[in-house]
Amino acid sequence: MQKKGLQVVHFTTKQRFCPFMHCLFYVSLRRSMKTHTFRSKPELIAILVIAFFCFMAANCRMDASAKAAEVKSNTSSDDKTEGDKSATSAPVKMPDVDGIKVADPKTILGRPEVPILCYHQIRDWKPTDSKTAQAYIVPPASFAEQMKMLADSGYHTILPDQLYAYLNEGTPLPSKPVMLTFDDTDLDQYTVAKPIMDKYDFKGVFFVMTVSIGRPRYMTKEQIKDLSDKGHTIASHTWDHHNVKKYQGNDWATQIEKPTKQLEAITGKPVKYFAYPFGLWNPQAIPELKKRGMIAAFQLYAPRDEKDPLFTIRRIIVPAMKPAALYKSMRQGFGYY
Ligand SMILES: [Zn+2]
Repeated sequence: MQKKGLQVVHFTTKQRFCPFMHCLFYVSLRRSMKTHTFRSKPELIAILVIAFFCFMAANCRMDASAKAAEVKSNTSSDDKTEGDKSATSAPVKMPDVDGIKVADPKTILGRPEVPILCYHQIRDWKPTDSKTAQAYIVPPASFAEQMKMLADSGYHTILPDQLYAYLNEGTPLPSKPVMLTFDDTDLDQYTVAKPIMDKYDFKGVFFVMTVSIGRPRYMTKEQIKDLSDKGHTIASHTWDHHNVKKYQGNDWATQIEKPTKQLEAITGKPVKYFAYPFGLWNPQAIPELKKRGMIAAFQLYAPRDEKDPLFTIRRIIVPAMKPAALYKSMRQGFGYY
């Protein structure tokens, strides 16, 4: 947008003043020299004087226009500086969620929902990718466009602790909050998505499936630790992506307890948030997750549970859609914008 403004000013300067100069100064002068030379000196002088004033007037207008362009340019760079300042300012202080009392479901359901986006792989499509697979793969160029749109539209990324404090206590959020979440531990989330997000100082939530850590095309322990150290949230997405609706006996220990401990050992921070594999959940899973230290859980786009909305927080899967379509989905799918 800033660039466009400057281009308009440049276009106006060139198109309006160059022909004006040619017509009034050079052409008039040449004509009068041809037809009246040496026969009517006062007329020639008069034309020269008029042409001189026209030239000065044109110059003034050019100066004014150039100044306007300069002001616009300065304003733009000021805006940018201001934006950069806020983007690189001290990290937002995360609320201490330990002391927060869980609000009643009606209060939580009554608050406008923050848009939460769910990504998987950030890479170019291959000929072998099926149509279904493509829905979970966002090419880097498309991801970059989407992030730019969020930044240009004034969105601020928030993390689960902020959402938790907001939903339970009404703690204010930054203007235009959005949450970026990444499932399944794919390596390109670290190598491709993170550098793009860094441009805007965006932070995300990485739901890690621990069985994949260190495997080819997945993140390593060190990369997960780096994400955590840089202010992103590391959260649980089970051991090997089994559907929680089918857990029995030891499954809770295998899929939730052990992975939580492993992620806590990697990051040195508590793991308190969970994303259901395939977005699938049932009411029986919720107390099991609570028993194992989770304080909130994320599904996909099904309605939230009336009794436990904190354990059925909604997200939308974002495909390779145009920024305008994403903007529309966010406004239509969630109440907070
Ligand atoms: Zn998953």
